Amino acid sequence: MNSSVAAPHELGDPIIRMEGVSKWYGEFQVLTDVDLSVRTGERIVICGPSGSGKSTLIRCINRLETVQKGRITVDGIELTAGGKNVDAVRAEVGMVFQQFNLFPHLTILQNCTLAPMRSRGMSREEAEAVAMKYLTRVRIPEQANKYPSQLSGGQQQRVAIARALCMAPKIMLFDEPTSALDPEMVKEVLDTMIGLADDGMTMLCVTHEMGFARSVADRVIFMAGGQILEQGTPEAFFGHPQHEKTRQFLGQIL
Ligand code: ADP
Ligand code: MG
Repeated sequence: MNSSVAAPHELGDPIIRMEGVSKWYGEFQVLTDVDLSVRTGERIVICGPSGSGKSTLIRCINRLETVQKGRITVDGIELTAGGKNVDAVRAEVGMVFQQFNLFPHLTILQNCTLAPMRSRGMSREEAEAVAMKYLTRVRIPEQANKYPSQLSGGQQQRVAIARALCMAPKIMLFDEPTSALDPEMVKEVLDTMIGLADDGMTMLCVTHEMGFARSVADRVIFMAGGQILEQGTPEAFFGHPQHEKTRQFLGQIL
């Protein structure tokens, strides 16, 4: 994918800080002492072998997962200080999953208006106007009154992105957003993500689309065994990977 390249941009102050984060599922340690600071407007691609903790790491950022050790702050909201900040952080962090997770019994428009009406207190008119704005932005306004099953996978994933944007997030998390798509639909979703990057969105994307990483990422992070093993600019990461595990991984997927 080399037709679309995100524009150069300036980075702001840190908006996500993870310090010494460790997490266990029962006896199994899934994250070990992870430190990560993300600046406003920064675009991060996270890659690494299956089971290395990538999903767990980004799910900690909107508190879909809790951690036992360390500190996580998102836009000044301390996530590790009990449950009371969950709603505040969810309002700021949008997430898009591999399986689009649209509500099958709701139309595309209703999928997009539900959360803004319920948790933002928007009127139906206002929520529909916002939804149509973002459905237009992901280039499927004409699908608004259809149901998810009537759309292609790529279209459904673009709806999932629009739905997240309707909540006006400051940060977007993507967990392998193109992995469940047929190959011909990958580009339309990546192009939508590039559009978001161009608009200055702070993005963390777990993906193995290395063309996307090269053209969009400010920083590529490689995870293995629950740790950040290596990170760098795409040029450094792909050009001079430091760790044997990174080289092995890149050898398998490139
Ligand atoms: P990745 O996204 O890199 O594939 P995950 O974060 O999904 O990795 O998972 C990391 C490890 O944690 C895997 O070994 C997985 O089996 C385990 N794991 C993930 N979720 C749970 C859970 N809810 N309970 C127990 N183990 C889990
Ligand atoms: Mg995963």
